[in-house]
Order: sequence, then structure tokens, then C-alpha cells
Amino acid sequence: MKYFIQTYGCQMNKSDSERIAGMLKSLGYKKASSECKADLVVLNTCVVRQSAENRVYGKLKNLEKLKVQNPKLKVAVIGCMASLYSEKIKDKADLVSSIEELPKLSQLLKNIEYLNPESDYLHIQPSYGSKFHAYVPIMTGCNNFCSYCVVPYARGKERSRPAKEIIKEVTNLIKKGYKAITLVGQNVNSYGHNLDKEINFAQLLKKVNNIASDFWVWFVTSHPKDMSDELIKAIAEYEKVCPYVHLPVQSGNNVILKAMNRGYTREHYVHLVEKIRKEIPEVALSTDIIVGFPGETKKQFQDTVNLFKKVKFDMAYIAQYSPRPKTAAYKLKDNVSPGEKKKREKILTDILKETALEHNKKLVEKIVEILVETGKRGSTLMGKTKSLKTVKFESEKHLLGQIVKVKITQAMSWGLKGKYVK
Ligand code: SF4
Repeated sequence: MKYFIQTYGCQMNKSDSERIAGMLKSLGYKKASSECKADLVVLNTCVVRQSAENRVYGKLKNLEKLKVQNPKLKVAVIGCMASLYSEKIKDKADLVSSIEELPKLSQLLKNIEYLNPESDYLHIQPSYGSKFHAYVPIMTGCNNFCSYCVVPYARGKERSRPAKEIIKEVTNLIKKGYKAITLVGQNVNSYGHNLDKEINFAQLLKKVNNIASDFWVWFVTSHPKDMSDELIKAIAEYEKVCPYVHLPVQSGNNVILKAMNRGYTREHYVHLVEKIRKEIPEVALSTDIIVGFPGETKKQFQDTVNLFKKVKFDMAYIAQYSPRPKTAAYKLKDNVSPGEKKKREKILTDILKETALEHNKKLVEKIVEILVETGKRGSTLMGKTKSLKTVKFESEKHLLGQIVKVKITQAMSWGLKGKYVK
């Protein structure tokens, strides 16, 4: 029996898909190279935006056609859409399961002897998608209830994984030769709140940093209201923790931030950025922005434009607001027109192109370390710097999965070109 997993959404979902794959392997399934060659297609879904949902509905339609050619094909919908819309989807798939119910999958696939259905899905041994960079979940769910966000409804309450489990998983990966670890969670810097043994994210980073061997650590996503001085110092001090911080601001206007229930002000955010840049001068900063939140006036949007110009992000994920059922903002009138949202998105993208280029230019002529993530010898190879910048270069050597040195020769807004040094 063969499986094929299609993942939608964030890095947390990528990590969850590794656990789904691990579980299917333990049930005797093998990975198929495409959905046409699979006996089971798993859609690991996302509900953060309407567009992500629409893609899943489109995929389910296509799979119906595939089922005509292969009547034995089974389709499973897992993840956030399954949590929120199981009733709506149940006729379109053979199996619908939230990620928390993953241990029950074996039962649903009629292999009850394999797993205890009550066990924690995070205990499932993952089948990692890469041999050198792994995503390790440290917490799941969220208690923040930002007014536009469906995650607390889809994923439930915030729940941290015991530090011991995380350290064990990371240690095993490092022993196997992994070069980079990304610690993932909806709100990693509030890590530890629900654990009996008191520990916070900065202390967890210290434990990870203390694991012997050379490797890199990234983490996503951080919330500005939970970014402590202790954590900033930890990122600056621990040599394995990379100088990259993803800090979603969402808006540069205080009225909108309040309506979004973000729990901080524009001034707090700007001050945080100043502290981070002072402590970690080589840091790359990225953010998330929503344009066209209900009621966002042109003047309020201008505050976001000004914040963008002031902070000068290295990268930003700019989204047009889309109403999500169950959220508080869903009750508000979605009164910024699609055309205006598109215009605002473009204004910010244009600023980002300039600021990202400005940061990237500083690296030209410098020799940087990169982790080579894609490409074969003799072709263009692509890797990431510690600050998560993409670098393309050529080499005749087999370098995939290695940390190598590259001299930067050219800077673009969305990446860099370089020459292999060694
Ligand atoms: S912090 Fe806000 S935006 Fe992030 S997952 Fe939680 S509710 Fe959603």
C-alpha cells in the first residue's frame, strides 16, 4: 500500500505531515511518488485563508476523477479544515480527522492493533521530509484569539510539549547528522506556560544549544507581546541559534491593532525591533501583515506604510484580509474593496522590495555560510544563510545537505547569488 501527502499552509503543518507519514510507515505504507500511484491520498489542510480552503475543495474534486480510474483509492482530509468543517467535508472524503485525532487513524484504517487511539499525536515517530533539516514541534494551539484568526478554533488551546521530549527528538536528529532544526509552534515564545515544570522558551533554547555538535536552530512563530528581554539575549548569546526573527506585526495602526486583539501597540513593536537590532546586529527580521482589515481607513493604512519604511523588514508575508467563520472579526463588515486591498498589498510589496534589497546588498563581497538545500552537482544549487536568505550558486561538487562557504556576488530583493568558496 502506498500513500501520498499533500500539505497546505504553515511550517507547523509541514511538521505534522512528517508525523502523518511516520504513522503511515508504521502501518506498513510506503511513500508514492505521486497521487496517481497512491492507494491513500492525505490532504493536510489549512484554514487560515479562504484561498487555502478553496484549493482543498478543488483538489477533492480532482481526486473524485482519480477515484473513477482507481476505485480502491482512499482520500483522507486531516488538519485544520477537518477540525472545523468535518460535516461539510465528510461526504467528499473517506476519512476526516483532526490532527489531535491522528492516533485514531490506524483504527480508521482498520489496523487497530498499531496505536493507542488516546495517545498524543506528537508522540508519533515522524518520517522527516529532509535528511538534513527537520521541523520539530514544541507547542501547538493558541490562546490569543486575535480577532481575524481561526487557529484557536481549529487547533484548540495552547499546549506545550515537555522539554525532555523535544531535547530527545533534537538529539536523535543531530546524531543522525541533521544540520538544522526549526522549532515550530503557533506562538513559540509563550512556550512552557501550561507545563507543570516551569520553563520558558529562552530556557528551552539554552537546552537545545547545549546539545553537543554543530548545528543551526531556527524557530517560528513569535508573538510581539511575548518577546522578552531574556529571549532576545538568548538569541544573541547562543551560538547555535540563528540571527533570524519572524515577528508578525499585522498592522502599524493602534486602532486596528486593538481591533485585531493583538495585545501590543505600534510603539511597543518599534521599541522591540530596536532592542532586537541592538542586541543582534546581524539579525534578519520578517513579519506578517494583513491589509484591508474591516474598517481600515486609508489614513490607518498609511501608518502601516510608515512602519514598513521605518522598520525596513528583510521579508514580509503580506495578506489581504479574508473573513474566517467563527472569528470575532467575521461579524464585522468586510468593507475594504478587493481592489483597494490589492492596491495596499502592492504598496507594501514595493517598499519591501527596496528594503530587502538594501539589506541583501550589505552581504555582497562577504563570505557567508549556507546550508545547501536543493540542487544536484553540476547544476544550480540553492541554500539558506543563517539569517534565512536564499543563495544560488554553481558547483561541480556534491554539496546537498552540507554547510558550505559562499562569496556573495549579487544581491536581489528576494535572494542572493554567490560563488562557492569551500
Ligand atoms: S497569535 Fe493570533 S494570529 Fe497567531 S495563531 Fe494565535 S490567534 Fe492566530
